[in-house]
Amino acid sequence: SIYGDYIKSVIRTVPDWPQPGVNFRDITPLLQNSAAFRKLIDSFVHRYQELEVDAIAAIDARGFIVGAPLAYELGCSFVPVRKKGKLPFRTISETYTLEYGESTVELHADAFREQDRIVLIDDIIATGGTMLAAASLIQRSGGHVVETATILDLPELGGSAKIREAGYSVFAVCS
Ligand code: 5GP
Repeated sequence: SIYGDYIKSVIRTVPDWPQPGVNFRDITPLLQNSAAFRKLIDSFVHRYQELEVDAIAAIDARGFIVGAPLAYELGCSFVPVRKKGKLPFRTISETYTLEYGESTVELHADAFREQDRIVLIDDIIATGGTMLAAASLIQRSGGHVVETATILDLPELGGSAKIREAGYSVFAVCS
């Protein structure tokens, strides 16, 4: 994307966090830099403003940081996909496996109308498990995932390829 190299330059890599051997991509320097944060949101707005989008669904918690301003700017709904146990109303849930153990994401059963066109967003695609679980929740609820979107894709971990193989489009500001 147009600002991809610039956005990438303000993401910090923290070696051996949260455990030895992991290179954690830290987006807080990007958020602290107001010009960079504006360019980031503008990259998503530019991508989706000409499409018919009914809702931005964003993944707990860093997906919220980009999803909310995007929904505001597009003038569409904002829907949180949350970690287990956070949503008060009737929910549907999807459990997926992590490197160690498993995790569950939840969605309110009334979050979408049939045929709603949804962009699903998160900060980073690593193994793709989180994005895929959230996408299948949305499909189960009757919504249509127009595209999955992320700030940073880590292609060497195979997540974006897996998401594409499952039939979803993937947009990354940088990789
Ligand atoms: P995946 O399910 O694709 O393996 O992992 C993606 C999820 O874990 C995202 O919700 C993301 O917030 C988080 N995550 C995994 N690795 C990183 C990382 O290096 N940096 C950040 N900021 N989040 C990560």
